[in-house]
Amino acid sequence: MGKIRNDIILIIVLAALIVSSFIWWFLSSVDEPNRLYVNIYYDEKLLYSTPLDENNEYVVKGKIGDVHIVIEDGYVSVVEADCPNHICVEEGKKNKNNDTITCLPNLVYVKIGGHIDV
Ligand SMILES: [Zn+2]
Repeated sequence: MGKIRNDIILIIVLAALIVSSFIWWFLSSVDEPNRLYVNIYYDEKLLYSTPLDENNEYVVKGKIGDVHIVIEDGYVSVVEADCPNHICVEEGKKNKNNDTITCLPNLVYVKIGGHIDV
C-alpha cells in the first residue's frame, strides 16, 4: 500500500516539474525581455526587425545609393555606403539598447531596441 502511494506521489511531483519547466520555457521564449533587435528604417519606414544575436547582412536601397549593414557576433555596423561623408561607416560597431546609426544622405536609420512587427 505505502509503496504504491509513494510511487503516485513521485509521479505527481515529476509531472508537476515537467509542466512547470515547460511553462517557464514557454514564457521565457515568448517574452525574451533581454533579446535585442536591429530595426532598420528607410525614410522613417521600418524595413527589418532582426535579432542582434543572429549574423545577417542587409543591403538597403537608400535615397542616393546602397547602404550595406552587417550584423555579426552581436554587433551591428554599416560596412559600406554610397554617401559622400561616410559618417555612418565611421560610427563603427554598435551593440547597446537605443544605439543608432544614421546615414542621413540615404535616409537610412538603424536602431537597436525591442522587436517591432514589420
Ligand atoms: Zn552614410
